Amino acid sequence: MTSEEFRRHGRQVVDWIADYLAGIEAHPVRSQVQPGAVRAALPAHPPERGEGFDGVLADLDRVVLPGITHWQHPSFFAYFPANASGPAILGDLLSSGLGVQGMLWATSPACTELETVVVDWLAELLGLPEHFRTDTAGGGVIQDSASSATLLAILAGLHRVSGGEVANGGITGRHTLYVSTQTHSAVAKAARIVGVGAENVRTVGVDEKTLGMDPAELDRAIAEDRAAGAVPVMVCATVGTTSTAAVDPVRAIGEVCRRHGVWLHVDAAYAGVAAVCPELRWLNDGVPEYVDSYATNPHKWLLTNFDCTVLWVADRAPLTGALAITPEFLRNAATASGAVVDYRDWQISLGRRFRALKLWAVLRWYGAEGLREHIRTGVAQATELARWVAEDPDFELHEPQHLGLVCLRPRWPDHNGDRGAADDATLRLMEHLNASGALYLTHTKVSGRVVLRMALGGTGTEQRHVRAAWETIRDTYRNMARSKKSAR
Ligand code: PLP
Repeated sequence: MTSEEFRRHGRQVVDWIADYLAGIEAHPVRSQVQPGAVRAALPAHPPERGEGFDGVLADLDRVVLPGITHWQHPSFFAYFPANASGPAILGDLLSSGLGVQGMLWATSPACTELETVVVDWLAELLGLPEHFRTDTAGGGVIQDSASSATLLAILAGLHRVSGGEVANGGITGRHTLYVSTQTHSAVAKAARIVGVGAENVRTVGVDEKTLGMDPAELDRAIAEDRAAGAVPVMVCATVGTTSTAAVDPVRAIGEVCRRHGVWLHVDAAYAGVAAVCPELRWLNDGVPEYVDSYATNPHKWLLTNFDCTVLWVADRAPLTGALAITPEFLRNAATASGAVVDYRDWQISLGRRFRALKLWAVLRWYGAEGLREHIRTGVAQATELARWVAEDPDFELHEPQHLGLVCLRPRWPDHNGDRGAADDATLRLMEHLNASGALYLTHTKVSGRVVLRMALGGTGTEQRHVRAAWETIRDTYRNMARSKKSAR
């Protein structure tokens, strides 16, 4: 592709994206295609001769778009948001354009140093402690996902608890990790990967009301395991759980971890970025005093295209100690001088994209003020939706309701007392709603019961979209409830 061809097609692509985002509401939110439909519409074999780019754009409309679930649709309320934004898209494009691979400082000094600046900026914006800054013993790094951040925290915890022995001798004896019933499955997956074993992930109970981890039970579990000869490695506390955005009591958990010498990782994948708002800084309670590592995802709720997780550590030595290996082909003068950061030693893969560009573009475009406004909009929309739910006798609101997530359950008078039948009806309602294409929401289970989750905070979501979604949910529920009655 010549630079002239690139210019022409590049303009077409940017126009295509702008048109797509401007007209996104014309699409059903969840893709309506059947399994195999996209594949069947594509040639079975690659082209022998180059075809140019126009066909790619044509097939994007013809084949790819019908198979897209529109995460940027303002009526996308499923899972958690995966915010995209103009500056982030452009930042990502610049990263692709530069095409650098920033494994070492020397392979592109700006890729490393801009990342250092951006993660330090973000720490400041979120009110995180000074010792997470990169000009201290700690520091931050951009990862692909919160799951990777969790895996890295476990590796760092293993390194610290073994005095570096795990790196050479592997894991010998039983090592344990601690989660609550609400913790993301990323910890169990990481336990399998590092060889701790899923069986050694101990599940601690939660407070029935807040769904936050019970620190007293955690204390007992760690003491019991140690008495039985196990090595407790890490506790994962969550700030904003996936099911209900519950917040673990990090301070109390931190006191337990400190007493037992256990690594404390905070998974704030969804909720951590909300701390850009001073009124939400309570989310950081206990973080400065007790936390060894902390991760949050600007790629969820902070206007930055996937992938962008920021992981901070209070002390980088156990992390880089666990990961640094320097084969001859990576040796260079800058690394040897000790004056630079090589982020390859802070992550699993060697190679790394220039992700800092998109986060930098976002922070500069919106400024702290714009970011706060985005979070406050999501919180306000959720608060209003929660009020409508609470005021409607046909629905039950899960409380406490946190941040931009609203969990609700329809009441099914026909199934009074039959929880299984009521859960089935709730799932049927959800499927009805999602199949309609008007909105997209997902479910979870709380205390064994199905609840519907609506995650606000989409880049383009306005109050009118939330209102329309609520009216659709209510009307669909009433039609279902009515048709049940008339069938009897
Ligand atoms: N932790 C929590 C609390 C989450 O809610 C999620 C995803 O929703 C994850 C971890 C996994 O995130 P990622 O896709 O970045 O690995």
